[in-house]
Amino acid sequence: MPRQDYFAPEIETISSDALAALQSDKLQKQFAYLAEKSHFHQQRFKSAGLEPGDIKSLSDIHGLPFTEKSDLRESQAVSPPLGRHTAADMANVVRIHASSGTTGTPSYVGLTAYDKQYWTLCISRSYWAQGLRPADVFAMGLSIGFFVGGLPVANAVEEIGATLLPIGVGASDRLISSIEKMGATVLATTPSYANYLAEIAREKMNVDPSKLGIKRVMVGAEPGGGIPAVRAQIEENWNAICTESIGNADLITIHSAECDAQDGCHFMVPDYLLMEIIDPDTGVPMSLDAAELEGEIVFTHLDRQCNPVVRFRTRDRVVVNTTPCTCGRTGPRLRCIGRSDDLLIVRGVNVWPSAIRDVILGFKPAVSGELRIVLDRPGPMAYPPVHIQVETTDGAPPGDLAERIEAELRAKLIFTSRVELVPPRSLARTEMKAALIEHRY
Ligand SMILES: [Zn+2]
Repeated sequence: MPRQDYFAPEIETISSDALAALQSDKLQKQFAYLAEKSHFHQQRFKSAGLEPGDIKSLSDIHGLPFTEKSDLRESQAVSPPLGRHTAADMANVVRIHASSGTTGTPSYVGLTAYDKQYWTLCISRSYWAQGLRPADVFAMGLSIGFFVGGLPVANAVEEIGATLLPIGVGASDRLISSIEKMGATVLATTPSYANYLAEIAREKMNVDPSKLGIKRVMVGAEPGGGIPAVRAQIEENWNAICTESIGNADLITIHSAECDAQDGCHFMVPDYLLMEIIDPDTGVPMSLDAAELEGEIVFTHLDRQCNPVVRFRTRDRVVVNTTPCTCGRTGPRLRCIGRSDDLLIVRGVNVWPSAIRDVILGFKPAVSGELRIVLDRPGPMAYPPVHIQVETTDGAPPGDLAERIEAELRAKLIFTSRVELVPPRSLARTEMKAALIEHRY
């Protein structure tokens, strides 16, 4: 199949039978490698009463324990810098990234030359699916440095042959003027920053972002790009197609990416990661045969040297769509609906911060879209009325705006809130991940 359609057609359009055979083969090789190189994994196999050689088929891994983020942190605390789960010699590590995560202290991920090259090819696949081509000029509005969305993304852009503008974040005016001067056609950034940047262009630089020539805005690194109202705002601001991607620093920068059908992110790397969807409450794996299912993604590396993980709980909650896509890719499509960590439970009702944002965005233009859910004790339990700050826009907001938002939240999400309207531009904008929750305790 031609490169025009797919970057790696043999993987992107693989049949389920061929994929099962490929994954089974890679799984056995990876586990033989872990048995030889990693005390951490050997001990975990032993504690589950298994020998690595017992893992022959995909379902055999269900007998292994989950790996939590806290397991990786503990592993690094006792054996810095990369942890006991490191399965490569430091002499072979060519780069270290830090994972900020949405909770807790940073952890570190090492890559061997092989790992780095595999990441590059996988991320290239995803960006190709999102429409990046050699003729494009790619404005990188992602932090460059320790962040896994930095250098690995730059490597992939160059692998594709597009022109990289490694601008980074921190100077929004420079990003906008570079887009203008270099004729950028693609902007890659977080969904919140995409909209923030458009606001800066208009208000501080007197530049209309929709006339800058950006054809695609590729967003990721935080949920939001899949929320219809957020996406519509990005597309309107930039007069461009917006597609999103999903990744995880402990696994790979991007594992799922969206094609132009804009109907969820295809799982792009089944030769690199084995994906399970589990019931987050019981941990029981769900069948991927259903047309649509909802659960938490769990991943096992199939071809990783430095920091391989087995049954790693991402805490990302997704809706999975397995129906055929017009683009011909066979990977199921994922839509991230939040993180299990972010979930709020208000009197027994599950409330996602992203769902709250979705409701509040329905009140534009009276609101800016910026909000904070203020918690005065640790979640996930939140107690009604839940305090939510909602930023207004210039011009007097309608007198009953707060009450109307409260009523809408009650009607749509079934919880009681106390909406506090705050003045325009009073909530801090973040250049990286949008913080919807403010912890005040
Ligand atoms: Zn598709």
